[in-house]
Amino acid sequence: MASVRVVQWGLGAMGSGMARLIDSKEGLQLVGGIDNRPEYVGKPLHEVIGTDTDLGVNVTDDPASVLDPSQVDCVVIATTSWVKEQMEDLRTILRAGINCVSIAEEMASPEAQSPELAAELDALAKEHGVSIIGTGVNPGLSMDMLVVALTAGCHEVTSIEATRVNDLSPYGPTVMRTQGVGLSEQEFLAGVEDGSVDGHIGFPESAQMISDALGLGIDRIEQKREPIISSVRRETPHIVIEPGMVAGCKQTLLGYRGDEVVLTLVHPQQVLPELEGQGTGDYITINGTPQISMQITPEYAGGTATKGIAVNCVPRIVEASPGLKNMLDIPLPGALMGPSAYTRRV
Ligand code: NAD
Repeated sequence: MASVRVVQWGLGAMGSGMARLIDSKEGLQLVGGIDNRPEYVGKPLHEVIGTDTDLGVNVTDDPASVLDPSQVDCVVIATTSWVKEQMEDLRTILRAGINCVSIAEEMASPEAQSPELAAELDALAKEHGVSIIGTGVNPGLSMDMLVVALTAGCHEVTSIEATRVNDLSPYGPTVMRTQGVGLSEQEFLAGVEDGSVDGHIGFPESAQMISDALGLGIDRIEQKREPIISSVRRETPHIVIEPGMVAGCKQTLLGYRGDEVVLTLVHPQQVLPELEGQGTGDYITINGTPQISMQITPEYAGGTATKGIAVNCVPRIVEASPGLKNMLDIPLPGALMGPSAYTRRV
């Protein structure tokens, strides 16, 4: 079996884990690593990602030096959440004639908020005969792809509710800041107002994917970000939350068709919810024929699943027809456990 040659762009918390996973798969070959952190540049890639075997390549901050389509089949990029911020790097990858998997949340369905950039990515990919996709645990899996998969046997769907209750404690300072963890209630509300508290990024993208896939006809969305105030002391390696402070952000999306709410997405993200008796989990209710209720407890582990689905998508996007894809356009990715997992009938 010929290996799929992969460059990992972005070697942070997600990217370094993806690089290790790529390196561990017999059908994938890690052939390069890109990051602009000065402490990584020029260092052997295996040292930066924390593996033993010398891969014979050093981390570079110069993408042009590694993006040779005769040597690279796919780039997995894990640098940022926003299409606009990633756009120049995505152009570089596509213009080099190389396929791409991104975990930027907005790339799950870039047409949701940046239709012109989505059209440009689609055109560039087609021009260069390659394909590009955005994925991750959420958006990409738990609150959109899984929702649509559950409706596969439905005769009709009247409305959908999906809730993901997760624990933020494995994450670092950036996530704590963007979720408003450790703030007072007033600071949180001011942060939502001025945009410094982002909450969850990806709801408009999940709503677009579900609506398009089912023809649900959502014509308007409303989003709300509310503070989750702790009544107990909560502590992680990165933050201490005293009672009365914000432990996380509860984000809600309502998707309307006319005046009717046909999609409700609820995502309370907080540090150590079990300290207040709240377990983690993914819950999906499909109202329709048949009625469906699914739960996964505890939550589908976010960081682990994001690394997994990004890497598992690599063979799918390499064999896909040229253009911009989403998770509902390609054959369902699964764990890459043996040779038969690397090719599908397309
Ligand atoms: P991180 O901050 O730990 O790592 C990002 C890395 O990218 C850093 O090492 C940084 O130096 C590097 N980088 C940034 N811009 C670069 C550029 N233009 N060129 C070269 N290197 C660059 O972040 P992370 O935890 O690994 O997450 C990465 C992104 O993925 C975040 O925006 C996060 O929100 C997103 N994410 C999405 C999902 C999902 O479900 N879709 C899940 C997890 C993370």
